[in-house]
Amino acid sequence: MIHEILPVGPLQCNCSIIGDEPSREAMVIDPGDDIADILALIQKHDLNVKQIVITHAHIDHVGGAMKLRAATGAPILLNQNDSALLKMLDLQAAWIGMAAPGKVDIDHSIGELDKVQAGPLVAQVMHTPGHTEGSVCLYFPKQQKLIAGDTLFAGSIGRTDLPGGSFEKIISSLHEKVLTLPDETVVVPGHGPLTTIGEERESNPFLQKS
Ligand SMILES: [Zn+2]
Repeated sequence: MIHEILPVGPLQCNCSIIGDEPSREAMVIDPGDDIADILALIQKHDLNVKQIVITHAHIDHVGGAMKLRAATGAPILLNQNDSALLKMLDLQAAWIGMAAPGKVDIDHSIGELDKVQAGPLVAQVMHTPGHTEGSVCLYFPKQQKLIAGDTLFAGSIGRTDLPGGSFEKIISSLHEKVLTLPDETVVVPGHGPLTTIGEERESNPFLQKS
C-alpha cells in the first residue's frame, strides 16, 4: 500500500494519500490545503483518485476538497452530521486567517459501518462524534491502521469547545469504539506524530480509568 502523509495548511493537518499499487486506485483523506502539493504526489505515484474522504468539516481538513474534486473528478465523502459546520466555512476561515474556500458539497454521506475503498484497500467507517457531531475515523483492518481525524492525538484528544463539540461524546466514542481496536493498530492523527492504540491506551492522560 502506498501511504503518503502530508501536513497541509497553516494548522498542518495530516492529509493522507492512500493508493493501491497494482490498480493505482487511490483515496485522499483530509485535503485541507496545499492542493498543488497533493496533486504532485498523486502524479508522482501515478494514482487515480476515486474518493475524497473528510474526517470532519473543520476548514483545515476540508478546505481544499472542492479544488481536489475539480482536479480529479472524485466524489467528496463526509458525514452529514457536519452539514452545519460546512455552512460556516467562511467563519471558520476567518478564525484562523485562511482564505474563505467557498461552498463545499457532500457527494455522499458516510456513517457507521460504511466502507470506503481504493481498489482492494478497504477502510471501515467509525462514527466517532465528540470533536464534531459528524467526526469519523477510518480503520483499515488488514493494514492495522487508523486514520483518526481530530478524535485522537498522540498523548491528547480533540478539542470539544467549538460548535458541535462534546467532551462526554468524544470520551464515549474513544472508549466504546476507538479503544476496541487492537493495540498494534497504528494511529494517524489529524495533526502531529503517529502513535498506536496500545501506546494511547497505556499513557494518554484522557483515556485513563480512575
Ligand atoms: Zn478539527
